[in-house]
Amino acid sequence: MSDIYKFDVIVVGAGVIGIAIAMTCAKKKSVLLIEKNSSFGEGISSRNSEVIHAGIYYPKDSLKAKFCRDGMERLYKYCTKKNIPIKKTGKLIVQTNPKDQNKLLEILDTGKKNGCSELRLLNAKEIIKIEPEVTAENAIWSPKTGVFDSHQFMKAMLDDFERADGIAVYNQNLKKIFTKGMHFELLLDDSTKLITKNLINCCGLNATNFVQKIEGYPKKFIRNTLFCKGTYFGYQGKLPFNHHIYPIPSGAGLGIHFTLDLKNNGQFGPDTEWVDSENYAVSYNRVKKAYNEIKKYWPKCNENKIRPVYSGIRPKIENKKKFESDFLIQTSNSHKISGLINFYGIESPGLTSALSIANSIVKYYL
Ligand SMILES: Cc1cc2nc3c(=O)[nH]c(=O)nc-3n(C[C@H](O)[C@H](O)[C@H](O)COP(=O)(O)OP(=O)(O)OC[C@H]3O[C@@H](n4cnc5c(N)ncnc54)[C@H](O)[C@@H]3O)c2cc1C
Repeated sequence: MSDIYKFDVIVVGAGVIGIAIAMTCAKKKSVLLIEKNSSFGEGISSRNSEVIHAGIYYPKDSLKAKFCRDGMERLYKYCTKKNIPIKKTGKLIVQTNPKDQNKLLEILDTGKKNGCSELRLLNAKEIIKIEPEVTAENAIWSPKTGVFDSHQFMKAMLDDFERADGIAVYNQNLKKIFTKGMHFELLLDDSTKLITKNLINCCGLNATNFVQKIEGYPKKFIRNTLFCKGTYFGYQGKLPFNHHIYPIPSGAGLGIHFTLDLKNNGQFGPDTEWVDSENYAVSYNRVKKAYNEIKKYWPKCNENKIRPVYSGIRPKIENKKKFESDFLIQTSNSHKISGLINFYGIESPGLTSALSIANSIVKYYL
């Protein structure tokens, strides 16, 4: 006979979003966190820039604007309390083309509307004082942007989750999910049956695949997840920067930017490349295009010193030409299945937003 276990909440996917939600709701409920891999945080959450974003770019009233700023405040507090390495590096958003001044001012305006009152506009002379090798007409200075150790962050939240009697299980393959009145039955490959009132899909790149396992899930609410790969580039030799440097965003990413890491080294990227599968291989073919972007703000950059080092994949929703620019959180308000929450398209700033998303989901839905 198969084993049967009951929980108030089952969270599927131990990336930063699943772990944050599991930790937050374990304070009051019995929670199971299921992961298909042998450890936590091996998906999108381990292949990114680890930047703590200040919430500048996102349209007012978007989910990204709502969660990023609040998530940033919560993240700094949580990391400080748990001694997780963080650094408030600050960031410059640089305008290198004279024609783009209005775009920069629009970003400044959006940031201010999102509550980033600390942002300042700098001219070329002021930029050189902060970053002597950066060439730009104008820039926005964001002093609250930072960098942190996202692996230690996830580990600390998992520890808190387990201290609150939450259970995390790994190497689990979900076969099928049945909706039975007011609860769900999840069938694992080894015939174990799990029963829960609340089922949270935090499967990252696999979010669409997950909903397809739910018997009878209405097709019109299945959203397609597309993969937009981003390659990062290292640089041989010492880099002269002391802050993150971002160009004005374009296309599916934030432009080929420079991010400092916690050891004061750094990397360029990620670029954008639509791919069909979860393949993280990197190629020198991406270098030329990246160089052409980097030299706009760092003319001294030497193309021969740039090398591709690793990549991550952004989950984008639906359509390469017109993809959803916001996070998509599907609750019973849309699909009408009580207790089911699907997270789609949780790309940047998902790390920064995780604690805020978790707080809001637990407050309003669990
Ligand atoms: C290139 C890049 C750069 C980024 N940079 C930043 C940044 O600097 N700052 C920032 O704030 N955000 C950044 N982000 C965004 C951030 O990394 C993501 O928003 C966040 O990590 C998403 O976490 P997640 O938990 O949704 O997904 P994931 O981390 O992918 O977690 C999903 C988990 O679900 C598991 N899973 C999938 N299917 C199943 C199943 N059927 N059963 C069980 N488990 C399953 C997976 O194995 C995985 O562990 C970046 C993203 C990318 C791609």
